[in-house]
Amino acid sequence: MFSISFENQYVTLGEGFFARTRPTPVSDPVLIRFNHDLAEQMNLDMGDAAPDQLAQWFSGNQVPEGAEPLSMVYAGHQFGFYTPRLGDGRAILLGEVIGKEGQNYEIQLKGSGRTVYSRNGDGRSPLGPVLREYLVSEAMYRLGVPTTRALAAVATGDAVYREEVLPGGILTRVASSFVRVGTFEYHARHSDQEGVKKLADYVISRSFPELSDSGNPYLSLLETVVERHACLVAKWMQFGFIHGVMNTDNMSIVGETIDYGPCAFMDGFAINKVFSSIDQQGRYAYDNQPGIALWNLARFAECLVLIIDSEVDAAVEAVRPVLEKFQTLYEKAWMTGMRAKCGFIREAQNANPSQSLLTKELLALMHECSSDFTITFYELSRLSDQADKQDHAFLRQFASRQPVARDWLVKWRTIMSTHGIKQKQRQSQMQCVNPVYIPRNHLIEAAIRRAEDHRDFSAFHELHEVLKTPYAKQKGKQRYQCPPGPGQEVIQTFCGT
Ligand code: AMP
Ligand code: MG
Repeated sequence: MFSISFENQYVTLGEGFFARTRPTPVSDPVLIRFNHDLAEQMNLDMGDAAPDQLAQWFSGNQVPEGAEPLSMVYAGHQFGFYTPRLGDGRAILLGEVIGKEGQNYEIQLKGSGRTVYSRNGDGRSPLGPVLREYLVSEAMYRLGVPTTRALAAVATGDAVYREEVLPGGILTRVASSFVRVGTFEYHARHSDQEGVKKLADYVISRSFPELSDSGNPYLSLLETVVERHACLVAKWMQFGFIHGVMNTDNMSIVGETIDYGPCAFMDGFAINKVFSSIDQQGRYAYDNQPGIALWNLARFAECLVLIIDSEVDAAVEAVRPVLEKFQTLYEKAWMTGMRAKCGFIREAQNANPSQSLLTKELLALMHECSSDFTITFYELSRLSDQADKQDHAFLRQFASRQPVARDWLVKWRTIMSTHGIKQKQRQSQMQCVNPVYIPRNHLIEAAIRRAEDHRDFSAFHELHEVLKTPYAKQKGKQRYQCPPGPGQEVIQTFCGT
């Protein structure tokens, strides 16, 4: 028999942090996919639960025993402007479990009906964004980027009304914590010092217990969150990922990528690329992401100022250097990742040009030529120590600038020659960080079209399967590697609410 051993801790925070909420039943839930690998990690005892049974649970039609469903309250800065009360408008936390290796997992239904935080929303989600989040979040995990995960996707059998009538879906997503910067802001902006303290203590004891012994655990919390986000955004940048809606309510305290709305992986590289239809000013453009992360972290620091020191001025002075460290941490994380991508296995002290300059030269050239981000690095990782005909696959990405790219390769090979590492070993190390497959927008769109228009989930499943091993070239899967063909390019993405 299927059972979940819930160990619910969020409810212990008590009133003021959430509203108990039951999912609203749906007409005809059908299980599209269940993530058995994740269920095992989470130590969910699946027994021999049939798909129909799973559909009942992960649509919210039945609430599993031990769950204490609730919606979390939070606030947040959206596109720079403060909204005092957001909260889970279409999400319900079923409860928490402890995984096989002691990790925390929170299980949340998304699209499970109205809550007290729904404002004018219907609490529902169309099927398309459910499939999208399932594919992209699981791909992020396999690429090695901290992220929320997808446990289940269910079709509800009900229509969802947007600009058009769409089939409905529910995603069950899992995070180590769903606390956001916006959760802190909600309490801080009510000058609820006790609330901020309670939340910080909760986050520390549950997610960062090692910080409780530090001299000032709240300042250490800020340091940790700053560090996590510096590393997270560096990773996004290294895969050409654009989150698209980095509002403070979409910024997880534990540093996981959360809220897959209008996010997208770039095909052709453009440093200031924006996909989201609602991001008119390009606030969340690709190259703005590190700066925005810091801006969001400053909002978090403002909340912690209430509890870091009883003297406000002293608290402000304490947080300032922590925030100032972000840039250095980010650059370090970025450079470490980029060096691995470029195959700069050892730091060459006196290399001229430096590895960092060479990396930046490559990106500038890629921007100029709209080179496919993923293919360029993939082809780079296959090049030999000596120029040969394989170079063509890399150079092809640079259109009329091929002579400049060829010069770049000469400089790159000069650095390679100082490493004293066998070509094969260098190539295989580079191939561990330069994926063959990413969830390309046109592939996601095609899978969604098939699912929405024909109730055919085969393209969704097949794409998901390919993305499970993104660094390994798979037989017969060439088309998953290719950028969009004429007319296939996705120009804009939507929030999907
Ligand atoms: P998002 O842009 O997805 O981060 O959502 C911003 C806020 O709007 C969050 O508080 C969501 O819970 C809420 N929201 C988004 N879509 C809906 C919906 N369909 N019904 C109710 N609330 C929603
Ligand atoms: Mg959100």
